[in-house]
Amino acid sequence: MAALSDSVRAVRGVGPKKAALLEGMGLYTLEDALYAYPRDYEDRTAIVPVADVRDGDRACVCAVVGTAPVLRHIRRGMDITKLTVFDGSGTLPVTYFNNKYVAAQLRQGAAYLFYGRVQGEGRARMMVSPEFERCEEDRPQGRIVPVYALAAGVTRRDMERVTDAALQALGGAGMPDFLPQPLREKYGLPELRHCLRRIHRPETLEDVRLARRRLVFEELFLLCCGLSRLRERRRGERGTAFLDTGLAAFWDALGFPPTSAQRRAVEEVRCDVASGRPMNRLVQGDVGSGKTVVAAALCVLAAQNGYQAALMAPTEILAAQHYETLAPLLGRLGLSCALLTGSMGAAARREALAEIESGRAQVVVGTHALIQKGVTFRRLGAVVADEQHRFGVAQRAALCAKGETPHVLVMSATPIPRTLALILYGDLDVSVLDELPPGRRPVETYAVGEKMRQRIYKFMEKQCALGGQAYVVCPLVEEGETGLRSAQQHAEILRQELPGRRVGLLHGRMKPAEKDGVMAAFAAGALDVLVSTTVIEVGVNVPNATLMVVEDADRFGLSQLHQLRGRVGRGERQSYCIFFGVDKGEAARGRLRLLSATSDGFEIARADLAQRGPGDFFGARQHGLPPLRLADLAGDMALLQSAQEEAAALLAESPALEGYPLLRARVEKMWGQAGDIFN
Ligand code: ADP
Ligand code: MG
Repeated sequence: MAALSDSVRAVRGVGPKKAALLEGMGLYTLEDALYAYPRDYEDRTAIVPVADVRDGDRACVCAVVGTAPVLRHIRRGMDITKLTVFDGSGTLPVTYFNNKYVAAQLRQGAAYLFYGRVQGEGRARMMVSPEFERCEEDRPQGRIVPVYALAAGVTRRDMERVTDAALQALGGAGMPDFLPQPLREKYGLPELRHCLRRIHRPETLEDVRLARRRLVFEELFLLCCGLSRLRERRRGERGTAFLDTGLAAFWDALGFPPTSAQRRAVEEVRCDVASGRPMNRLVQGDVGSGKTVVAAALCVLAAQNGYQAALMAPTEILAAQHYETLAPLLGRLGLSCALLTGSMGAAARREALAEIESGRAQVVVGTHALIQKGVTFRRLGAVVADEQHRFGVAQRAALCAKGETPHVLVMSATPIPRTLALILYGDLDVSVLDELPPGRRPVETYAVGEKMRQRIYKFMEKQCALGGQAYVVCPLVEEGETGLRSAQQHAEILRQELPGRRVGLLHGRMKPAEKDGVMAAFAAGALDVLVSTTVIEVGVNVPNATLMVVEDADRFGLSQLHQLRGRVGRGERQSYCIFFGVDKGEAARGRLRLLSATSDGFEIARADLAQRGPGDFFGARQHGLPPLRLADLAGDMALLQSAQEEAAALLAESPALEGYPLLRARVEKMWGQAGDIFN
């Protein structure tokens, strides 16, 4: 009897060449093969009479080879093999393209299950390149066929051979269940070996569903155990303790009463930084929820405790804007603030660097420029990364390295469900701003098509006449892909359509100083309309803007559109958002209508995640989590929540998983690269 630790090389029918390919897929042992789950299934349980298959079907028939397969050379690079099969209901031609082997494999007079696509009607009807396996004509048995993700050169038959051997080895003593029994009972999760058999060789699709549920749970549970462990371990580190020396004055200086969500988040921050351990907290809140207030509170705590704070923003525009908000606020509290960006002139830069180095600048706002070599802080005690999803873990770390285990606050306006945030942002604690400042009216949103264009221009004119301002966002800077509006071109059009209105243009290819100039003019009300690319997506705050128009909105992601919409509705006046693009097909219409139906960023993020998948959603993988084989973070949210709770509960009772050696081994295996997480 084979053992699970045996090499795939020992499997009969797997030669050294195949074995090398399998190893290239990460399959070294039979156990590895068990964890190479199928990515899909083909249901071949329904066997259809050949007379009933129709053009476009993917069907499974049980039929006898009637005419011997004939291989014909059609032209260079094109061979065709033709045969006819039959069952009690009729006959069906079968054709293979460029397959030299089938003619030798299919025996005339023998019965096979053929599975493949049918095309054509009447006399032209045929099955194209079906897969086949022998069967007994009078007792045909269809099956659910697993579809594996395969490297080039590896066939499904190879994978079936290896997984068959692995499942046989599983029949022996190998692989006891590592999930604690009470947990399995509580969630109705079948036993491990049973699930592994079912996921690879299901008899029904219901088998797959049940097995998958358990295997997803186990994967998420292992992930959460590792995350909880990392979080705990960091709690053991020592950091600087900031005392509350003046938050009361901060609240007074703010100029408006904080929302209760802001109060709560600031209180969480205050507790973190007073604890003597380094804070690592994510503040998450929909656009306009007022995250900057939380960042400001941390900066004040740091400064009043004799430390410097650094706030890093992803764009120059945003950094400048944060500086504009923070400098006066901090000034009222007698604290100093400096700005450092890449586009500053040499003299200004030198001065800023000197202030940072001497400690005269208590709070420093900037862009990536903050992490450059020449920047030295005197005593950096707190770091804020705004719009966290724009930064990599490495950039955050580089900023932190300029201090000694500073407190870290990251802020994200990409509202994702809390449980998912816990996972994607790794070992961070999370504060949620689930409330908008009072007096905000929801932005009225309309998804429109081309025939509304003139009316929208009139509406834009009216908003300007009422004293408001408008953003117009285009997908491109200049003319490129046909049919898409470019910002440059569209600015010209609007200058003609809205005579007398001051139309500005802003895009990513402009020099930073130019960009700042245009943005400042718009903020000051010296421009009525700002045509731009998505450079204004994050953070920009001009409360007087009441209209957002997005051209070719179908080209943007849902969360991105929601971010853009968040640029308006920041003042007391009713604001509007117009998405062009409903006339670009069913899918576009559905997506844009979803946005007009809801302004709940969490709901939108969930829909976005479901459509695009988490990898795409967050850009490059920057969170450094172990890869998941089966779980889908968006689709398996409920299980994720349970896994998170259970992992926390188990580790609270048994911090190094004492008494659960099998489970611990599995957590260590999954988290291999993250180092020794139980020490
Ligand atoms: P975001 O969470 O999108 O970063 P900001 O911090 O930029 O939001 O805040 C958006 C706007 O709301 C700013 O103009 C800010 O001054 C204002 N604001 C924030 N908190 C409050 C509040 N509690 N009451 C009134 N206005 C607020
Ligand atoms: Mg912000």
